[in-house]
Amino acid sequence: MDKMRILITGAAGFLGSHLCDRLLADGHEIIGMDNFITGSPDNLAHLAGNPRFSFIRHDVSNFIFVPGKLDAVLHFASPASPNPTSPYGYVNLPIQTMKAGALGTHNTLGVARKNHARYLLASTSEIYGDPLEHPQKESYWGHVDPIGVRSVYDEAKRFAEALTMAYHRFHGIDTRIVRIFNTYGPRMHLDDGRVVPNFIQQALRNEPLTIYGDGTQTRSFCYVDDLIDGIVRLLYSDEHLPVNIGNPNETSILDFAHLINQIVGNQAGVQFKPTQRLEGDPQRRQPDIQRAKEILGWQPRINLEDGLKQTIAYFKYKMNLPS
Ligand code: NAD
Ligand code: UDP
Repeated sequence: MDKMRILITGAAGFLGSHLCDRLLADGHEIIGMDNFITGSPDNLAHLAGNPRFSFIRHDVSNFIFVPGKLDAVLHFASPASPNPTSPYGYVNLPIQTMKAGALGTHNTLGVARKNHARYLLASTSEIYGDPLEHPQKESYWGHVDPIGVRSVYDEAKRFAEALTMAYHRFHGIDTRIVRIFNTYGPRMHLDDGRVVPNFIQQALRNEPLTIYGDGTQTRSFCYVDDLIDGIVRLLYSDEHLPVNIGNPNETSILDFAHLINQIVGNQAGVQFKPTQRLEGDPQRRQPDIQRAKEILGWQPRINLEDGLKQTIAYFKYKMNLPS
């Protein structure tokens, strides 16, 4: 792959910062953009002084100006946590979430068009809503309540996909769409309320793990390094239709809690909290990754226990606990 000059929005976030690291390691020049609404400069601190990295503090909902020629634009800026108990949850940032998905996608597509650059949209498994098809293939149209509390995220991403395809079909922009499934790893927010940070911190404090509902709902957790590898393969490919990237190994939230307790050595068990579940919390979620296997030659390699150990080490560091 030729060396590219790449704009990454959401660069100070969990996934955006890992993407910066990986694409810098591949030899590209990166311009990160973020307004820190849910991200943190800490995630990029290690890149200070790197001559191939620069940063622009900016809200992507407003017109974007980046000096110089760009070869690629990767749009990752958006709140991403569904948890209503967190100040970072998109339910508590509803307008900003819709603007990042709608106006932010429009503005970043405009930047790609002006530069004749390739474009990659970070979409989500949430566009499938509370799925009636299982596992979810890219051909599934989804089951989304357009006015439910989750709709600010789901519908913004669905609009973002539609706009990306419109720019591809009408303006001939070289676009890609990745549908990201649940991902975990170092640099996740400690307090964004998602299940991985909640469970790990509770386990490290020797508290019971809070299970929303009966814990039979499932998720399929992908370690961040695997996910980033899939996204970069998609970026380097010529595929224009959406591709699921995630780990197909499905686990119930209850089994997941037991595994974290076992790795950490937490004896406090679990606690069921029926009132905490967000309306529309999907009961099952598992990607069908056949297309990613065929088109990108990609599949996840890191097993859940190894990935959790890496993530737990990061949380210990952030919580000032001995390693
Ligand atoms: P994150 O909150 O850690 O990162 C998002 C970043 O975008 C943050 O740094 C935030 O400050 C920035 N941002 C938000 N709105 C902005 C705006 N208007 N202007 C500039 N910057 C803005 O979340 P993440 O988990 O890294 O998610 C990154 C992307 O991946 C999002 O688009 C999300 O929808 C998508 N995604 C993530 C997951 C996952 O499991 N983490 C799953 C599916 C999709
Ligand atoms: N969950 C839980 N306890 C927590 C946080 C989340 O049982 O402390 C559940 C949540 O209800 C959902 C699953 O874990 O069924 C994954 O939630 P998360 O917030 O990580 O994101 P989602 O997969 O819903 O986007």
